[in-house]
Amino acid sequence: MTGIVVLGSTNMDLVAFVPRAPARGETVTGREFRTIPGGKGANQAVAAARAGAEVAMIGAVGDDDFGLRLRAALEGAGVETDLLRTSEGPSGTAHIVVDDEGGNAIVVVPGANGTVTSLTHGDEALIGTADALLLQLELPLSVVAEGAATARRLGVRTVLTPAPAQPLPAGLLAATDLLVPNEHEAAALTGIADPHAAAAALLRDVPEVVITLGAAGSLYLARGGEPVTVPAPPVRAVDTTAAGDTFVGALAVALGEGRPVPEALAWASTAAALSVQRTGASSSMPYRSEIDTAHASLTGREVDAV
Ligand code: ADP
Repeated sequence: MTGIVVLGSTNMDLVAFVPRAPARGETVTGREFRTIPGGKGANQAVAAARAGAEVAMIGAVGDDDFGLRLRAALEGAGVETDLLRTSEGPSGTAHIVVDDEGGNAIVVVPGANGTVTSLTHGDEALIGTADALLLQLELPLSVVAEGAATARRLGVRTVLTPAPAQPLPAGLLAATDLLVPNEHEAAALTGIADPHAAAAALLRDVPEVVITLGAAGSLYLARGGEPVTVPAPPVRAVDTTAAGDTFVGALAVALGEGRPVPEALAWASTAAALSVQRTGASSSMPYRSEIDTAHASLTGREVDAV
């Protein structure tokens, strides 16, 4: 079984559904409120576990009620949490306002995520056992860079989702094997709007890039190789929250199993397409059997034996 370690964030998403977002100084009445376990790290961990990997999470929750729920949600998805710290103070929270047009505005307060400033010997030993280390940018950048450098030293493949978009410390891209930005993050990193040109520019720093393009699919480029474009299956999207995290989790599993890149990309696209047809973040993520069945019907092939 593919072994994946995620070094990343856990956040409780506090979501208010409103007809329209309030302006400064204004109060509006919302129609519904939900608390949903999230955070890019935890989302990728759940996506990879459901896609069939053995997954462990390094990060932190707070010593509050949210922390208990965030840990329980990961454990419920089969993610190992032995090295998920409980730090003094609040858990990370994302305060999300979703309006009737599906637009959103988000404030993220890192809370416990901000206390993960360095790796322990136990963290390093765990990373050394993995086929891949998944990283995002919702922990302090110094520890993200430390994680990537540790994995590189131990010969473990590093997969970085550069979100939320921000300038990266020197050394982080140099220790990244596969970079997976969406088109906006790719443009922010390179200053180049065209995804093909942005991918080519990113190859100066990393050997492989996948740029996700929403409903337009994804684009893969490796140094010295031809671009691979993968269309997204045409589906009726109801909620694209965490589509990218579902994609990355499934992609890491497929690549860890040694599947060829075009096949791994198509399988990950199927997983993401399933997730956008359901509401929620981790609640929308498909299980391996669902991905295999949908993938087989899209490609007209037999379902692979699990
Ligand atoms: P993010 O969620 O990080 O912004 P994207 O919006 O690019 O990332 O979506 C990631 C992947 O999810 C895409 O490459 C695609 O495979 C899939 N996806 C996203 N939106 C849709 C959609 N409307 N229909 C089908 N697949 C989608």
